[in-house]
Amino acid sequence: MFKVTRNFRQTHQNYSHCSGCSLCLLVCPMWRQHHDSRFTPQGHAKALQQAVKVEELSETIFACHACGACQPVCPENIAIIPMFMNLRQQLAEKPAALGNVASIQAKWLENATQPIEKIKTSSGFLADNHLRQHPEILQQVLTLLVKTTLISDNGEDIIQAMHMGVEIPSARLERFLHPLRKLKQLIVSEGFLYTNLQQWLPKVKIRSLGEVLTRLPNIHSKLCATDLYIIECRAYHADFERLVKHYDQLRKTVFCQFNLDLQRIAIPTTSDNIHDHRQAKWVLEGRQIERIVVESMADSAALQQVTDLPIVHLATI
Ligand code: SF4
Ligand code: SF4
Repeated sequence: MFKVTRNFRQTHQNYSHCSGCSLCLLVCPMWRQHHDSRFTPQGHAKALQQAVKVEELSETIFACHACGACQPVCPENIAIIPMFMNLRQQLAEKPAALGNVASIQAKWLENATQPIEKIKTSSGFLADNHLRQHPEILQQVLTLLVKTTLISDNGEDIIQAMHMGVEIPSARLERFLHPLRKLKQLIVSEGFLYTNLQQWLPKVKIRSLGEVLTRLPNIHSKLCATDLYIIECRAYHADFERLVKHYDQLRKTVFCQFNLDLQRIAIPTTSDNIHDHRQAKWVLEGRQIERIVVESMADSAALQQVTDLPIVHLATI
């Protein structure tokens, strides 16, 4: 079985290095929703320092939805998402979680019967399920990404397993990665696997859909100063040092607004509770804008709950 580790390139420390500075609270949607330090990176790190049992954290460890906002701000470079994923793995090994494990294992049995894909281009595109639910937008994305193949196996079961803390069988991971190894570039519409893909496929350039599309002159020229541009936060935070420069440049040339805070952390539009719209409202607070441009259809769905402003996908502006 494959053990999930999410070792972010610049985050090498574990929970024992948490100083309790609370900087992660400022950006964490769990804190914004619960106002309870148990639901924060700091709360979990401090609990682990006091050697609490994983069962005592079962109420809170699934609240993190891996937006990645906490990682660039942590001065101790703590690998916060791996901390949550490892806690989930420990809990998934307990008998109480066996129901969840059985459901994901059934998907793997089904996947094992599918033929392995052959990709004929050097560029591939992993579209997440939210985007796949909008075939016209997906088609427009593919028209813009010339000579790029839409990968049929988008690894959603692997993402789900990682969220649940379930170990991924090596055979399943190999079926997912095998066709991707020959690519020169892999574009992702959702960044949960971004860091893992960088590690699993060291010879492949991993890029976010937002970055690739905004580098196209015909897309760039259609952005304007009255737009609020919503960056897909997982890929952005996973490749923060490089992408912060890219979006800085975009801001200087387009003058549009972004879902960035003063530390240039991308504010997520969602939290762990899909019925809680405070995150989406917070992103829009005090803005004078005429249109919202999204990289991710998940962000579009969240923002539709709180505004009547037009919301368009980047590929369709
Ligand atoms: S990844 Fe996002 S939700 Fe999870 S602890 Fe960090 S900021 Fe909070
Ligand atoms: S930002 Fe890092 S060091 Fe500071 S409280 Fe959060 S996890 Fe601990």
